[in-house]
Amino acid sequence: MKTRYRKRTIEFERLDSKVLSAVSKLSAGQDYNLRWECEKDISLKLSGWRDQSGFCVYKRKCLTAYRINIIYQDTGFGQRPLWVCPNGYCSERCLKLFYSWKQDIFLCRQCIHVSYVSQNDSKADYLSHKIISLREELWGKDSIYLKYGDGLMESCDDWEKPKWMKWPKFIIKRSKIIELEMAYWSLIPKTTLPL
Ligand SMILES: [Zn+2]
Repeated sequence: MKTRYRKRTIEFERLDSKVLSAVSKLSAGQDYNLRWECEKDISLKLSGWRDQSGFCVYKRKCLTAYRINIIYQDTGFGQRPLWVCPNGYCSERCLKLFYSWKQDIFLCRQCIHVSYVSQNDSKADYLSHKIISLREELWGKDSIYLKYGDGLMESCDDWEKPKWMKWPKFIIKRSKIIELEMAYWSLIPKTTLPL
């Protein structure tokens, strides 16, 4: 299979120090619009406004907004603004916040990691069910576990062709499963993989 490489020009959806500096200079009540591009398409557009304590951002799907507090830290050369992670239990002060597509909110590095991992957990769950059902469909529910076991860590790339099936059809079906296995493995943290 030929792999195609394409140069990706992605602006990650985050509130970086540039946005922080721009927003912190606004006076209360002023609007500020945000826009990110992904390969020349707009990936996300949000709007918000500056208020006394921070930056209020409208949620994507509904007309509610939440505030990201901005605090000022003494640096010795003056003060620099910092975001305060809007996740209530966190309140981490930082220069960058990352957008969670799942929660429609900007979060600090630690909180976005937690959100990302749980998102991947449900994706891995979906993929493992899909792999198992396609394996059962191709090799037969009864014989499969006797012969190969149910381990998802083992690839099915050397499993035998069922006698009744033609090779081309078998190869297509097996490739589909191998593709899902690869996607599944890519979601599993490396530390849980056997050496
Ligand atoms: Zn946080």
